[in-house]
Amino acid sequence: MLGPDNQSNSSDFEAILASEGVGYLLSGEEKVASLIPWDPFTFPSLHVPCPSGDGSTICLLFSANWCRPCRTFTPQLVQLYNTVRRSVGEEKLEIILVSLDRDETEFRQHYMCMPWLAVPFDVKLQQRLSKLYHVRHLPSLITLGVSGTLNQEDAVGLIQEYGADAFPFTKKRKEELKAIDEAKRQGGKLDELLARGGRDYLVSGIGKEVWISELVGKTIGLYFGGNWCPPCHKFVEQLKEAYHELISTTNQSFEVVFVSTDKGEEDFNRHISNMPWLAIPYKDKTRQDLCRIFDIKRIPALVLIAPNGSIIGTNGRAVISLYGAMAYPFNESRIAEVEALLRQQGDGLPQQVSNPKHEHVLKLVMAKAYVCDFCQKHGRFWSFSCDVCDYDLHPTCVDRTAGA
Ligand SMILES: [Zn+2]
Ligand SMILES: [Zn+2]
Repeated sequence: MLGPDNQSNSSDFEAILASEGVGYLLSGEEKVASLIPWDPFTFPSLHVPCPSGDGSTICLLFSANWCRPCRTFTPQLVQLYNTVRRSVGEEKLEIILVSLDRDETEFRQHYMCMPWLAVPFDVKLQQRLSKLYHVRHLPSLITLGVSGTLNQEDAVGLIQEYGADAFPFTKKRKEELKAIDEAKRQGGKLDELLARGGRDYLVSGIGKEVWISELVGKTIGLYFGGNWCPPCHKFVEQLKEAYHELISTTNQSFEVVFVSTDKGEEDFNRHISNMPWLAIPYKDKTRQDLCRIFDIKRIPALVLIAPNGSIIGTNGRAVISLYGAMAYPFNESRIAEVEALLRQQGDGLPQQVSNPKHEHVLKLVMAKAYVCDFCQKHGRFWSFSCDVCDYDLHPTCVDRTAGA
C-alpha cells in the first residue's frame, strides 16, 4: 500500500520505474542523448534516506510546458538549483523532472531549459507517478525519502517567496525564514534589513555607492514603486517636495531608499535617474525580501523607519500625501500635533458652502489629499468637498470661483 505524499519513499518511485522497464534517468547535461544508468552508486541517497538538512535532498518536479505557472516557476527553480549546488555542493541537491507534457516534442522543449535529471517521457509512467504522489497542482515539488518536508503546495510557495533560501524545503526551514522576517519587521538593525550577501551599500541615481552604515541614526523612508505605475509618479513628486525640504531643515537626518518593483533594469535606471535619493540595486533580491517582509500589496507605498531602526509605520504614503514635511519625524505625537494645528486653522472656515461652479453643496473636510477642480493643483489638509461626486476645491479657490 502506498502512503500519502510525504511518506511515499524513494523505493516506491524506483519500483514504479522498474515495473515500467525504465532503468535510467535522462541527464540534464547532454539532454535526451545521454542515459544515466540507474544504480545505487549514482543515487545513494535514494536508497539510504537521510534526515532533513543532513545529506542530500532529492526532489521530483511535476511540471508541463503547457502550464503557465510551470513556465514561470522553472527559471526560479533553475536559479535555486544552481545557487544551492554552488554554495553547499552538487551532491546536496538533485531534481528529477516528471513531465506531464502531452507528447515528446513538448517534453523536450520543456526539459531543454532545465539543468537537472528527468524521467524518460512516458504517459503511463507519468500517470502512475502523479497518482503515487497525489499531485493536485502544477508545478509540484516532492522531496523523496525524508521526514519533516513541506507538502507539495508549500514547497513551491516557499521557493517563490524565498528563492534559494527555501532550501532544503523542510518545515523547520520555513519556520526559520518566517522568524527572520518577523525579526526584521520588528526593526532595529538597518544593515540586516538593507544589506545582503556582502553588499553593504546602496546606489544613487548618478551611480554613486553609499554605505548603509551612513544611514544609521537617520529617519528612513522605504519607498516601493514602479515606473509603469502612474500613481507612483504622482507620489514621487509629493515625496520629492517633502524630501528637499527635510534635507535642508533637518541637517540631512532624513533619507529615502527606493525599493523598485520595475519590470526590468532599464526601467529601473530610467526611474532612479529621476530621484534625488538612494536605492537597493536592481539585481539584488533584497527588493523582493522587503516587499514580502512589509507585505506590500499595492504601490506606491512608504515604510517609515525611526532613527533607532524601529518601524514607525507602513502608512507613510498617506502621511506624506496629507501632511508632507510638516509631519517629520512622523511619529504618533507629531502627527497628533499636526492635526491639532490644522484643526485650529479650520476653525475659521465655514462648515459648508454653496458654489456657483458646482450644483451640490460643498462640505468642509479635513485630512484629505486631493486635486482642486478649479486650479488643478494638488491640495492637502482642508478641502471643500462634494459628497455626491468627486469634486474638491481649495478653501482659497472657493472665494476665487465665487468671485468669477
Ligand atoms: Zn485650487
Ligand atoms: Zn457634486
